[in-house]
Amino acid sequence: MKYCKWLVVLLFFWSCDNQPQNDGTQTASTALPSIEEATTTNDNSNNTKPVINDSLIKFDNPNLSEEEKARIMDKISKKYLMGQFDPTKDERFQKIPNPYADKEMYMRKEALASFKKMHEAAKKDGIKFRIVSATRPFNAQKAIWEAKWSGKRKVDGKLLSPTVKDPKARAIKILRWSSMPSTSRHHWGTDIDINSVNPAYFESGQGLKEYEWLTAHASEYGFCQVYSPMGKDRPFGYQEEKWHWSYLPISQELTTEYAKQITDQDISGFLGSESAPLIEVVKKYVLGINPTCK
Ligand SMILES: [Zn+2]
Repeated sequence: MKYCKWLVVLLFFWSCDNQPQNDGTQTASTALPSIEEATTTNDNSNNTKPVINDSLIKFDNPNLSEEEKARIMDKISKKYLMGQFDPTKDERFQKIPNPYADKEMYMRKEALASFKKMHEAAKKDGIKFRIVSATRPFNAQKAIWEAKWSGKRKVDGKLLSPTVKDPKARAIKILRWSSMPSTSRHHWGTDIDINSVNPAYFESGQGLKEYEWLTAHASEYGFCQVYSPMGKDRPFGYQEEKWHWSYLPISQELTTEYAKQITDQDISGFLGSESAPLIEVVKKYVLGINPTCK
């Protein structure tokens, strides 16, 4: 079994080295045949999560060379976890085609393949899902954050720079709506916002119907609502986001690695980054998620 698993890993790397550069229009099944063939899913009827099956390997093979280990670990490097890479040039990522998104966005291939299956199933129930946000690299998040930090973009209808002097208070205000660069799950390509980012949208009518469908079925496709209602189980972090769903077969491993590899002191390179340790951004915001998604 162990060797079988490693054969899959080697096939994956062989496949990546030998595939032509993904032009963003291929489907996951044509872009990565070895992964697709190897993907096994637990029986959805008993509502278990899909088996983790991609490049994020817990490697335990003593015969693995140092180079191979380094190459695997490079895939879950600090840089990747903090969004410092280019998803348009990364073979693990794929451009999201129409009709799943209406602007240019990228996502991890396996997560996209599963989203497509969920999209088809929902369509049969009269529900249409569209991805409104997917991978956002560090620089994209930095632009959003710094505009708010420096008072060029309003937060809750106000410019923060002149009104909120204390860096900790200012960061907390921005964190109500936006992640700090380096700490967003949108860096990973496993997390998506579906249909709307307006809380009111999901309270009634079609939005409510969509949310009820997701809570009933998204787990069958590996997706979990990481920003669940705040309360005893989730005492801190972002407010509830009914639109934000995370593809656990990859993101669970990334959450674990983030906890191991990244500290508040690693968060730097943008205006206001000195507030990261003051608000314990890793513990409270990155790891302050729905416990059932961990
Ligand atoms: Zn989101």
